[in-house]
Amino acid sequence: MSATSARADGIPAPGLRFAAIACRECDLLQRERPLPPGAVARCVRCGAELYRDHPDAFERALGYNTGAVVLFVMANAFPLVGLKIKGDLVQTTLLGAVHSLWRQDMRLVAGVVLLTTFITPLVQMLALSYLLLPLHFGRVPRHAATVFRTMNRAGEWSMVEVFLLGVLVALVKLLHLASVVPGVALWSFGAMMLLHAAAWSTFDARALWARLERRR
Ligand SMILES: [Zn+2]
Repeated sequence: MSATSARADGIPAPGLRFAAIACRECDLLQRERPLPPGAVARCVRCGAELYRDHPDAFERALGYNTGAVVLFVMANAFPLVGLKIKGDLVQTTLLGAVHSLWRQDMRLVAGVVLLTTFITPLVQMLALSYLLLPLHFGRVPRHAATVFRTMNRAGEWSMVEVFLLGVLVALVKLLHLASVVPGVALWSFGAMMLLHAAAWSTFDARALWARLERRR
């Protein structure tokens, strides 16, 4: 965040621009300073952590995200689950399941599944790659602010965990009707969920904006 200091009469003082950060706990606005590697900045009023310097967080987030993209491709290229009924094996992929729902006139459910388990995770992962990859190679991605906002909005609709839990519950219920054969995609989805969560927890938006500002 960029702020301009103000005189007592409220008129911004010319040339006195500095980065400021608001404490999430007590809302106090404080001046942001560069930190030595690994150090933590705390709020002067309540002691809450404001931000910290992760020397390799940027590269780790990029690595986790790239792994998640590969697993996402596998999760959609291979069968999610197979059912063995009287010797016949019936398999389906995630998109195949969405297509079946659509054909069975459950179009709203098909749309929700497609949006929350395919479109939004894909948008999130591609957006994160779009922001991190060019910066890793010393370039500034174009329209970074728009992509960053889109990525955050998409995050509100990503429900891979809920989907995976629903699939597992459905599979347990089907066990007495048929032999359930977990597909490659099911394991890939599980691993993707973990890497996706790791990328998001490691991703430091403050470090991203700091790099963007430095490169401009
Ligand atoms: Zn505080």
